Amino acid sequence: MLKPFHHNNQWHFCLSPACFCFSIMTTLSQTKEIFRRADAVCFDVDSTVIREEGIDELAKFCGVGDAVTEMTRKAMGGSVSFKTALTERLSIIRCSREQVNKLITDHPPQLTAGIKELVDTLHQHNVKVFLISGGFRCIVEHVATQLNIPLHHVYANRLKFYFNGEYAGFDETQPTAESNGKGKVISMLKEKHGFKNVVMIGDGATDLEACPPANAFIGFGGNVIRQQVKERSVWYVTSFGELLKELEKI
Ligand SMILES: [Mg+2]
Repeated sequence: MLKPFHHNNQWHFCLSPACFCFSIMTTLSQTKEIFRRADAVCFDVDSTVIREEGIDELAKFCGVGDAVTEMTRKAMGGSVSFKTALTERLSIIRCSREQVNKLITDHPPQLTAGIKELVDTLHQHNVKVFLISGGFRCIVEHVATQLNIPLHHVYANRLKFYFNGEYAGFDETQPTAESNGKGKVISMLKEKHGFKNVVMIGDGATDLEACPPANAFIGFGGNVIRQQVKERSVWYVTSFGELLKELEKI
């Protein structure tokens, strides 16, 4: 029986039980076509839509920047699970509700150049835009508001606070708290809305791993270039202008 499956941007066709496999690369032109025809585009947030890593900024603001930056680096190397890495970093930061609010007021997240124009253009083409982040909902919602993205299109982790505003942990039931969480959100979106062409855009390994179920992945190196992601991306861009140019062909 012929069983096609999509893995690492490649379609594999296996004839079972015979050990006969071949693969067809998703080409650059195919990826661009999926982007032009997308019914939904999902963006990573940290180092993609915004210029910084939200958790590192929060840690700096709370006076534990160095310790947490080192843990973020390790977490990106993939040696610990996403949830463990998040738990460990937050147990050092232990931010209060007041500190988070003050961070957003005093050091609002910096939008990456061109993202506003790109999201506006996608909206004009009736493409649904989602933000899927391993960062924190309170910060990501602020970003969504600036980009006119509805708050129910935001998928991110939720910080929890006690009534007096002290840190009380995070909601461990959110899909974005898990390794492969971004893929789980995309599968859910496809099922819920019936999307046929979903594109994931991001700088990190967790974004690349969300394809599949995403139909195409675009690597973004406008803020930081992660070599492994660059090498494994069929389409890798360093500015959102390159994506805008593609939409002008529609
Ligand atoms: Mg990122």
